[in-house]
Amino acid sequence: MSKIILTGDRPTGQLHIGHYVGSLRRRVELQNSGDWDEIYIMIADAQALTDNADNPDKVRQNILEVALDYLAVGLDPEKSTLFIQSQIPELTELTFYYMNLVTVARLQRNPTVKSELKMRNFKGGSIPVGFFAYPISQAADITAFQATAVPVGEDQEPMLEQCREIVHSFNSIYGEALTMPNIMLPDNAACLRLPGTDGTAKMSKSLGNCIYLAESPEGIRKKVMSMFTDPDHLRVEDPGKTEGNPVFIYLEAFSRPEYFAEFCPDYQDLAEMKAHYERGGLGDVKVKKFLNSCLQAELEPIRKRREEYQKDIGYVYEVLRKGSMAAEQKAAETLGKVKKAMRIDYFSDEELIRAQTEKYQAASN
Ligand code: ATP
Ligand code: MG
Repeated sequence: MSKIILTGDRPTGQLHIGHYVGSLRRRVELQNSGDWDEIYIMIADAQALTDNADNPDKVRQNILEVALDYLAVGLDPEKSTLFIQSQIPELTELTFYYMNLVTVARLQRNPTVKSELKMRNFKGGSIPVGFFAYPISQAADITAFQATAVPVGEDQEPMLEQCREIVHSFNSIYGEALTMPNIMLPDNAACLRLPGTDGTAKMSKSLGNCIYLAESPEGIRKKVMSMFTDPDHLRVEDPGKTEGNPVFIYLEAFSRPEYFAEFCPDYQDLAEMKAHYERGGLGDVKVKKFLNSCLQAELEPIRKRREEYQKDIGYVYEVLRKGSMAAEQKAAETLGKVKKAMRIDYFSDEELIRAQTEKYQAASN
């Protein structure tokens, strides 16, 4: 069986370091490992419109921002197909058929939908049907490419679960046409769901608590220096908590032994630094300065590459146009199989016409 990856991002803003550790960094590693037969990376504009129906220009403008971030982190259009969701009409068609396999109650139970509903504050509690059903559309995205692996952050776990249920129902009702996908979570616990700079549970474009991949060096420094830490760690000599402390969570996600040697040689590694903070005597400013150095080192090459691609926006759109054409071919293949399995392939089924012809001939004889 082919090894196929599908994953993507909503064009609701520039990508941030939560996306990087939760999914982007892994994608680039997988891409460069050469172990995968096909890799599809989708800019989920149709999904973004489910909760931004009144702001199409935001979605339109951010397609480019996300594409620039992709190229900047090292996704390579020669190895990964980068495409735009709305340009693949087969995805909408699949969604419509999968809707018959999911109950309203099941969607209401989806924990990600529940928490996002709270976060997004739909006016008067009125939920657009499209938003409510987006887990189904996500199942269409994943299955259209017959993905075997979906590298995403932890918030996507319920989506994958729901997708697997749809695959199971479809295959048991209509016959094996869809591939069962597996979630691929980050190995590092700190990367499962990177908190916001404000200490809230998740860094999210929609909450404005992000450090963006394209952030300027000064922007990174300011955001790091004003980050939340342990609120009870008032004086340097006080013992501090590292668990749940966003600064230390970011260090878990970004620090490397060589950064200690280069930027903070008082400690061999993060375990030593944490131990000092916990027993007291290590100030927040010193830890934040170290985090700032780590982030500057990680983000500088990404920012530089982005600046290069920003000089040729025509090229970026060309990448997306070609990627969308290739992605559509693959999705059309799957839709063909799905329609055949569902017995809605009337015009390519000569047997159907023959049998019905015979039936009426027999009746008129
Ligand atoms: P929005 O607020 O518009 O939903 P978002 O910041 O949540 O935006 P998405 O486009 O929904 O970003 O998510 C893209 C991918 O990045 C998903 O795989 C998601 O799991 C992952 N991701 C998003 N935020 C984080 C985070 N804070 N930590 C780890 N992974 C994340
Ligand atoms: Mg999200």
